[in-house]
Amino acid sequence: MNISTSSLQSASPADRRNATIQSMQSQEFDLLVIGGGATGAGIALDAAARGLKTALVEKRDFASGTSSKSTKLIHGGLRYLKQLDIALVRETGTERAIVHRLAPHLVLPEKMLMPLIKNGTYGYWSTSFGLWVYDVLAKVKGDDRRKMLSKEQTLKHEPLLDDRILKGGGFYAEYRTDDARLTIELLKTAARKGGLALNYTQAVDFIYDDKKQVRGASVRDNLTNESFNIKAKRVVSASGPWVDKLRKKNGSLSGKRLHLTKGIHLVFPHRKIPLNHTLYFDVPDGRMVFAIPRGKVTYVGTTDTEYKGDLNRVVATKDDAVYLLNAINHALPTVKVDKNDIISNWAGLRPLIHEDGKSPSELSRKDEIFVSDTGLISIAGGKLTGYRKMAQRIVDLVDEQLPEPFGPCPTKDIPLTENSLKDAKAVEAYIQEIENRVKKLGLISYYGWYLVTTYGKQTEIILEKMQAYNSDTPDIALLRAETWFGVHHEMVNSVDDLLVRRTGRLYFDIESIPPALDIALADMKNYLGWDEKRTQEERERMELLLKDATTYYEKEMEAAPVV
Ligand SMILES: Cc1cc2nc3c(=O)[nH]c(=O)nc-3n(C[C@H](O)[C@H](O)[C@H](O)COP(=O)(O)OP(=O)(O)OC[C@H]3O[C@@H](n4cnc5c(N)ncnc54)[C@H](O)[C@@H]3O)c2cc1C
Repeated sequence: MNISTSSLQSASPADRRNATIQSMQSQEFDLLVIGGGATGAGIALDAAARGLKTALVEKRDFASGTSSKSTKLIHGGLRYLKQLDIALVRETGTERAIVHRLAPHLVLPEKMLMPLIKNGTYGYWSTSFGLWVYDVLAKVKGDDRRKMLSKEQTLKHEPLLDDRILKGGGFYAEYRTDDARLTIELLKTAARKGGLALNYTQAVDFIYDDKKQVRGASVRDNLTNESFNIKAKRVVSASGPWVDKLRKKNGSLSGKRLHLTKGIHLVFPHRKIPLNHTLYFDVPDGRMVFAIPRGKVTYVGTTDTEYKGDLNRVVATKDDAVYLLNAINHALPTVKVDKNDIISNWAGLRPLIHEDGKSPSELSRKDEIFVSDTGLISIAGGKLTGYRKMAQRIVDLVDEQLPEPFGPCPTKDIPLTENSLKDAKAVEAYIQEIENRVKKLGLISYYGWYLVTTYGKQTEIILEKMQAYNSDTPDIALLRAETWFGVHHEMVNSVDDLLVRRTGRLYFDIESIPPALDIALADMKNYLGWDEKRTQEERERMELLLKDATTYYEKEMEAAPVV
């Protein structure tokens, strides 16, 4: 992404990509980041904002790894309190309010209801105390502090709960986000600070100096298969589940290793699970699961199982689906959901750090940094919520190693969009305004909420662009405006970049994809100069993603053999 080069604003997307590639191979960077998930994007922003010459490469699309498959909460991680991971809870708890302030349209306050049931994980007093500690650690103030509810109050908030076993509830504050959009806004902000980022560009090997220190990477443009070198004083691998693969390539896979666990989410129509609030509820096996109402849907997750399958194609199995169906039917007996009620799913991998003898749910979510003898810095573990502090730790380390100091981390005060909305109230008011405006354009009011919580003030650009398509129906005009925006402002290079990660349609509005696919493909073919073969490959790829999002396989996809 190179939106800082004003002379390129009117250039075609292909020219801009070529200019970025040119720029990447013609200079030495202070820092090269490998991996365009939330962790890498956060590092790129921190480094670029401190003035480091920064480049980032991502082998597929930005956020196409774990950072589009999370529960999409910016949360302190209540359950880590039970594991006595106090430092983690304090850090992520405090970060929530900061990330909300930096992107109020994207990180929205969300009240959580934790029902207390007979023989449940937590009793009334332990919950009251736990939530109080949670608030104190995160410095939560005013109305956002936890409230303990009687059985009657809890049922008033959420009549779907099982009154035969309900004892009361804890009501507390967290935040909800869209992980992929957060990642893209981090990268756009990094680009405004002078950083360069390129998707579909894979680090295939490292470049070493004569002292055997990593000084860059040779990369392959996965759109053209052409290779080039990027020189950098320091290289950080923020490649999530692929961290150990790069450590192996670097000859430094020793000591601690990753332990991958899989988590899936199931999506239902909101009318089938019509919750008023997010629920964080007990599952009979002692785990806890979220059910989150969002726009047209309610999604439920997550699972936590060992994973040894294909890193590039993570799918939901029948066992995963049955586990979550049982969980929801146990907590909300009147909804009676079965597999026919599921509209879609997504599955992702947690790149956790292995600890001997611990089960997936017991592994710590703390991040760890590995520095190899050859100077490769790798970071894994951690949470989406903690991306900013993880980035700070990495860039502090890089800064110490570089001859010239670049100064302290500035990201606490860098909003994640241009022309950012001020706070949650401003977001609410803007949603109202846009709902009214989209109704006048012939769209249902849902799109007002959707546009603001997806794009913030950038909604204005999309609504203005819609006018160019006024001969189309309003839904199609909106899709075409989003396609144009994605390609020209957000480096959309594939139809799934648009329909999965920039617009979240695969996750929250899957029914809208089949009628949208041909229209999006036709416009992208035109903008990106695709031939028939490429257009057909794009269609097939999207069809495979739609299949995976609606299929429950007998077992995981097998990892491709290493050759
Ligand atoms: C089911 C589930 C639920 C979760 N829920 C939450 C939650 O609600 N809140 C929260 O805070 N956290 C949550 N998390 C954790 C959070 O999602 C992750 O910590 C975070 O997304 C990890 O981001 P990352 O950038 O480290 O990894 P990734 O997002 O996987 O990014 C790594 C990137 O590196 C790229 N890459 C790999 N190899 C190369 C290469 N050779 N060259 C170039 N690029 C490469 C990959 O394509 C990938 O895009 C959840 C995780 C899971 C699995």
